[in-house]
Amino acid sequence: MLWDDFLNSDYHDWRGGGRSEDRLDRPGWLLKLLSQYQIAADRPPNLDELAELKRLRSLMLAIVHELVQGREPSSDAVASLNATLSQGAVIRKLAAEDGRFTLRQTPAASGWQQIMAEIAATFAEMLVHNEPSRVRICDNPDCLWVYYDETRNRSKRYCDDKMCGNVMKVRRFRARRKAEASAPPGEK
Ligand SMILES: [Zn+2]
Repeated sequence: MLWDDFLNSDYHDWRGGGRSEDRLDRPGWLLKLLSQYQIAADRPPNLDELAELKRLRSLMLAIVHELVQGREPSSDAVASLNATLSQGAVIRKLAAEDGRFTLRQTPAASGWQQIMAEIAATFAEMLVHNEPSRVRICDNPDCLWVYYDETRNRSKRYCDDKMCGNVMKVRRFRARRKAEASAPPGEK
């Protein structure tokens, strides 16, 4: 989904070591991501637009932090998201194909204001049509990847069990072994 791909542009190395990279600063990264969602940008964002994109990302991330703690986002946060949404208009078009109707929405304008509204809209649509209580932040403190938990019993704690899940298992094992090794004799 575009909203979580966009949030995860602020990359942290899940293996630890503290390496991080803001992929919005990498030329072309966002354009490529947007093209995967059929959103075309005719040029990269300028510095002001890049700062606005980062503000939008911080806002969405702040809302995600509220959601993962079971809280509703503040009315200020919702108002800020609405401000971004209002920067983009859509054109609706009804089509009849193969015996069924579809209603397509296409952006009314191009440009970064419109694109930011589109990104915010995918987030807003998730809040409306999906289950906000399934939004997660990876439990690996080095990773913090944002994802949507689609497991039936809502039990997904890591962005990827083979990667972060495994790293955390190894860390717990090592911590336990270290604690056992430092315990006084007789208490093992
Ligand atoms: Zn992770």
